[in-house]
Amino acid sequence: MPELPEVETIVRDLRPDVVGSTLGRATVHRPNVLRNISKARLVRDLRGCRAVEFSRRAKNIVMRFASGDRLIIQLRMTGSLKVAHGRLNRDDRAYLVFQVQLGAGRTFLFKDVRRLGTVQLMDPESWQEFESRIGPEPLAAEFNSVVFAKRFESTRMAIKKALMDQSKLAGVGNIYANEALFLAGIDPARPANSLSRTEYQALCRTTRKVLRDGISSRGTTLKDYRTGKGTKGSFQTRLKVYGRGGEPCTKCGATLVTTHEIDSRATTACWRCQT
Ligand SMILES: [Zn+2]
Repeated sequence: MPELPEVETIVRDLRPDVVGSTLGRATVHRPNVLRNISKARLVRDLRGCRAVEFSRRAKNIVMRFASGDRLIIQLRMTGSLKVAHGRLNRDDRAYLVFQVQLGAGRTFLFKDVRRLGTVQLMDPESWQEFESRIGPEPLAAEFNSVVFAKRFESTRMAIKKALMDQSKLAGVGNIYANEALFLAGIDPARPANSLSRTEYQALCRTTRKVLRDGISSRGTTLKDYRTGKGTKGSFQTRLKVYGRGGEPCTKCGATLVTTHEIDSRATTACWRCQT
C-alpha cells in the first residue's frame, strides 16, 4: 500500500500536468470507487473546474479547484495514477476505474486492479472535517520531536501500531514504521507511553529520515506501486528490516525475526538491537 513517500512521488510527478488545467469530460468506469457522490453528479460537478493545487495529505491525493472543492483519491492497495498524452493505448485502458480530461490532449487516469481505491469530491466544509481527523505531517517544517511525543505519550498502544495510526501521525504505514523503529533501536511492541523523551527524539529523527529517504528513492516497489511516470521506486533495495525476516541484521548480524503478533501486520525486527 502506498505510504507517504509513494504518494508524494506520484503527486510530484503529475503536478505539472494537473495544476492550471480546466477539467473536461470525466468518465467513471467503476462506480463502486465513488464515495458519497453519484456518478452523474461527479461527472457534472467536475466539468469546467480549474485545478489550482495538486498535493498530498497523509496518504490522500488532493486536487483542489478554484471553487474550493477538492477531488480526493485514495490509492489503497493497487491503485495508480498517470497522465496520458494523446490517445489512450491498450495499457492505459487496462483496469481503468476513473478518467478525466485535463485539456491539451492530456487525460488523468486512475487505474486499480483490485478496485479498493476511492474517489470523492468534497466541499471546503467536508474537507475541513475530514482533514481535522488526520494527524500532523511528519515532514512539515513546524514538526518536531515535542509535537511527535505529544501525539503518542498518553497511549498504551504498541508504538508500531500507534505510528501507523493516521489520526496520530499522517502518512506512515507498515514499511516505514518497521524501518524507523529499527533505526531508532526501539522494540516495536513497546507501549507508546513507555518511551522516554530521548527515545522519542530518536524515533522522530528516524521516522523523518526514512520518509525523506523513501521520497528520494521515489518510493518502495514490492509489487504494485508505480511512480506517476509508471516506473518502479528503489527504496526496496535500501530496506533494513521490512521483508527481511530470517536474514542477518545489518547492525549486529543476529537473525531478523518476523512476527504478526503486534497489530496482525508483518513486523520484522532485530530483538538484539531493538530494546
Ligand atoms: Zn541487530
